[in-house]
Amino acid sequence: MANSVKWLGHAACHITTEKGTVILIDPWISGNASCPVKKEDIKKADIILVTHDHFDHLGTDIPDLVKATGATVIAQPELVDTLQKSGVSADNIIFGMGMNIGGQVEIAGVKITMTQAFHSGTAGNPAGYIITLEDGKTIYHAGDTGIFASMGLFGDIYDIDLALIPIGSVFTMNPLQAAVSLTLLKPKKVIPIHYQTFPILVQDAGEFIDLARKKAPEVKVEAIKPGQEVTI
Ligand SMILES: [Zn+2]
Repeated sequence: MANSVKWLGHAACHITTEKGTVILIDPWISGNASCPVKKEDIKKADIILVTHDHFDHLGTDIPDLVKATGATVIAQPELVDTLQKSGVSADNIIFGMGMNIGGQVEIAGVKITMTQAFHSGTAGNPAGYIITLEDGKTIYHAGDTGIFASMGLFGDIYDIDLALIPIGSVFTMNPLQAAVSLTLLKPKKVIPIHYQTFPILVQDAGEFIDLARKKAPEVKVEAIKPGQEVTI
């Protein structure tokens, strides 16, 4: 057994740790044409991470997912208000009120650190997450963001096994910024996300793969399709 990270299309990811803990990130499932599962298919989730409140990240399924699984939701306090209005109980929100950038919480042996992301949103500030699994393996989900120099700090502080970074341009990093971000983050593997979903986004990972090979040849690019997974 290993830890597996399944891409659900766009920014949505489904992590199952070696110990069986399930973590969902930005579960935009209903309405996401690239998502290979339905919300009813998700029977187990322990932790749900939300990066920001745009529809393609927050989605509309979190209240039902929480009811079905009892998962604990992590988001910023301002976004917690939105979640509570949509029917998520405070009992299912970390400390009943959320967390913020720089903070670390631990649930079921998984350490979650919220990071900054440079983007926009309605409630709170967009974020990313560094997720340290029970066995120490570390995943970075950048959320929606442009490149920023302190990604180099994340690369120095954390030994990132897998990075999930947007490459689709228009709303986030383009393939060039995403490739250069690998020189800062220094992950062992990367899954490019947040592309192809909308007609205005970059439509395939080809340019990113070429640029990553030039800028950060030591990083293994895992350009998987929605529904496929990578183990770490
Ligand atoms: Zn967004």
